[in-house]
Amino acid sequence: MNLPIYMDNAATTRTDPRVVEAMLPSFTETYGNPGSRNHAFGWESEKLIDKARAQAASLIGAGPKEIVWTSGATESNNLAIKGAAQMYAKAPAGSEGRGHIITAIIEHKAVLDPCKRLEREGFDVTWLEPGPDGIITAQMVKKAMRDDTILVTIMWANNEVGTINEVPEIGAACRERGIVFHTDATQWVGKMPTDVEKDNIDLLSWSGHKIYGPKGVGALYVRRRRPRVRLQAQMDGGGHERGMRSGTLNVSGIVGFGAACEICEQEMESERERLLALRLKMERELASRMDVVEINGHAERRLPHLTNISFGFVEGESLMMGIKDIACSSGSACTSASLEPSYVLKGLGLGDELAHSSLRLSLGRWTTEEEVDHAIDGIVEAVEHLRRLSPLYDLHKEGIDITTIEWQTH
Ligand SMILES: *Cc1c(COP(=O)(O)O)cnc(C)c1O
Repeated sequence: MNLPIYMDNAATTRTDPRVVEAMLPSFTETYGNPGSRNHAFGWESEKLIDKARAQAASLIGAGPKEIVWTSGATESNNLAIKGAAQMYAKAPAGSEGRGHIITAIIEHKAVLDPCKRLEREGFDVTWLEPGPDGIITAQMVKKAMRDDTILVTIMWANNEVGTINEVPEIGAACRERGIVFHTDATQWVGKMPTDVEKDNIDLLSWSGHKIYGPKGVGALYVRRRRPRVRLQAQMDGGGHERGMRSGTLNVSGIVGFGAACEICEQEMESERERLLALRLKMERELASRMDVVEINGHAERRLPHLTNISFGFVEGESLMMGIKDIACSSGSACTSASLEPSYVLKGLGLGDELAHSSLRLSLGRWTTEEEVDHAIDGIVEAVEHLRRLSPLYDLHKEGIDITTIEWQTH
């Protein structure tokens, strides 16, 4: 077993060597610009793009013409959200009352920040809050809908806790009211079955590097029929991608993206089962070998490979220091000034202390049972060590509820 162990697959994945293999010829052999319509170099590259479009479309039940290539999920989200808001705005730029948008406080920054910008530009935004289970339900979305709602954007699965929102049901509610529905499916697609028709989706973002493909390439699904969805381009230029995203295509990246999609489609079922068993083992052992261990978010509505666990009575940074050979994420986010507790965990109602002492462990295609066992032992050892030094944990063991203690402050 090689150390450190990689358990941060929700942040990015190792590129599958089969994907790299598929990409290589596009650098030195098929290097034409797919936009070059008048020679064989261009045509050959265009063939590669068409193949990747079909592979990407097949993974989500779309048509190849409905795929728009981007630089990643951040760009896909920006294009979908700003592009739809500007296209379907009820009043011109510079005025108030341009339309209503529904999103949630637990979205990725790449959704929150475009929505905040639109709010500054005259759109009204409703920021839904989940309950402690972390789920955004169709009922919550329906209650927030107004006559002037033009766009709903709700992620499929959350990147920090792995909880799964009621996306097909939200899509159905939007379709009924003629509201455009976008989902950031970056953590979902490739891991879980997806069908944009059955799931009632108009716009869907995903990214190469979260599905064992290369970094810097993504896709946006844009519905073409029943109903046709139109977007205002965010990048002006040569009018590539049906006018929605100008710029010479990243041929190698797109070839890799397509290959990654095809492998995910083929191996999804077995992969899901294998990772689910490993994740359940990890949760079960950590929760049974120690007390005050909380698995965050809904117990069942969650991705197979991702868990987020809080360990009471340990300090977050010390915990990270104690598990140096396990690469994972903590419930703290580095901002320029300080270590802030995760806004997603706070959104689920966790206090700052518990958010800081949380770990996000995300397994992937190359995670072995041996690695999982090593990680379990390492985390138990680190938590127990820190608790041996904690006077608060001593009080807890004596049965004293520390929330009732009146601390002497002077
Ligand atoms: C990783 C991630 C993104 C950003 O994707 P990039 O391709 O890195 O821009 C957006 N949303 C979610 C949910 C993610 O997990």
